[in-house]
Amino acid sequence: MRTSPLPFVRRVEQALADPVLRRNMAVGTSRQRTHRLEAMAALPGADALRNHASRIRAHTLARLDEYLEQFVAAVRARGGTVHWAATAAEAASIVTTIAVGERARLVVKSKSMVTEEIGLNAALEAAGVTAIETDLGEFVIQLAGQHPSHIVAPIMHMSKEQVGALFVERLGATPEEVVDVAAMTAFARRVLRERFLEAAVGVSGVNFGVASTGTLCLVTNEGNGRLCTSLPRVHVAVMGIERLVPTLDDLGVMLDVLARSATGQALTVYTNLVTGPRREDDADGPEALHVVLVDNGRSRVLGSELAEILYCIRCGACLGACPVYDTVGGHAYGSVYPGPVGAVATPALDGLGPWTELPHASSLCGACRDACPVRLDIPRLLLLLRRQTVEAGGSPVWLRLALRAHAALAVRPRLYRLAVRLAGRVLAVGARDGYIERLPGPLAAWTASRSFRLPARRTFLDEVARERRKVSP
Ligand code: SF4
Repeated sequence: MRTSPLPFVRRVEQALADPVLRRNMAVGTSRQRTHRLEAMAALPGADALRNHASRIRAHTLARLDEYLEQFVAAVRARGGTVHWAATAAEAASIVTTIAVGERARLVVKSKSMVTEEIGLNAALEAAGVTAIETDLGEFVIQLAGQHPSHIVAPIMHMSKEQVGALFVERLGATPEEVVDVAAMTAFARRVLRERFLEAAVGVSGVNFGVASTGTLCLVTNEGNGRLCTSLPRVHVAVMGIERLVPTLDDLGVMLDVLARSATGQALTVYTNLVTGPRREDDADGPEALHVVLVDNGRSRVLGSELAEILYCIRCGACLGACPVYDTVGGHAYGSVYPGPVGAVATPALDGLGPWTELPHASSLCGACRDACPVRLDIPRLLLLLRRQTVEAGGSPVWLRLALRAHAALAVRPRLYRLAVRLAGRVLAVGARDGYIERLPGPLAAWTASRSFRLPARRTFLDEVARERRKVSP
């Protein structure tokens, strides 16, 4: 789950000090926002559809055990094999064992966040199996030795010039092959096509599993997903247990909101429905289909007050809407799941202990909630996590003492007013033109990047008292 050994503050500082990253993020998120808003505005009854999608998610999760049983039975009835993985390590081990058993030296992968979550590529490499990412963005990320910085646009943080330089340095591309985006895409396609033909195993994620039919739905904008799931002899689909919908009709509702929220498209270029491995009368398709159902904390989350985070359909709309994500990019979060959804999903799945800062990486403006196609109330979940952090003693000592002092003053009005007046006078000593350039101690973090406005000479209560005196002399 963790993508960086650096502490959160350090990662944020690095991001803020990188002007190229900030420019790339500003362009990428603004484009995503505009496309989403236009697509949603053009969809008749969009709000009602989002409510419907939210109800489907709530209903599915309330009866997840039943739908999982139904899904597993349907996958098996159509010739697929189902594996249960309680942890990330178990899931990675199941996929690795299948690949090794198939004597695969090469595995081709289509884009999948859950395989990032379980650290699949590292596990395959450790077993001597090379994993090749075939989604263009993921391919670039793999070449760069990084992690995706966005759920649906893994290289949002990079410019096309940076990608071109990487192709020249790592793959020996010529200047003509990186002259523009079309040339770079054609170059990557030439490199990758060979790999599809060599691989014995294709690994994919799953956008939605349909409980009634055992169908796996994969949405992509590149043909790579279809090649990964149909060309190699064996297809391994890795899926979080929450990614179910009851029926194909429910899937239709989800598809109506997913692409519009993610990229602003009415539908992604490819919507693949995989129901079992190749049948006798099929012209192509894999000989075997394995579905790996990953729990990795989801059952625990389902029984907790954070269960709503499992509604998420990984569209990435909340990332583009978030002013924090927009400013620092995805790598600053230090988790495979960045942005507002990651600030909840990461501590929910992995435990709050190593992730106490993430629930604070939000202004609580509510833009993520407004953007979410399944009406996930992320600010409410962030506040729950902040409360849990405080209850676990995870907030800094100085903050706890300061809040205790404030609580003591807040119930003693005279003392409170006196303290406010005194604080104003003390702060005024170091002020210039109504602003304080440097605050002391931990408060210096505030003035590191902006000035602190000096409190007004007359407080709000002074003004209220004065107005009252005017009304009733
Ligand atoms: S929380 Fe909502 S907006 Fe964010 S990725 Fe999930 S479904 Fe999309």
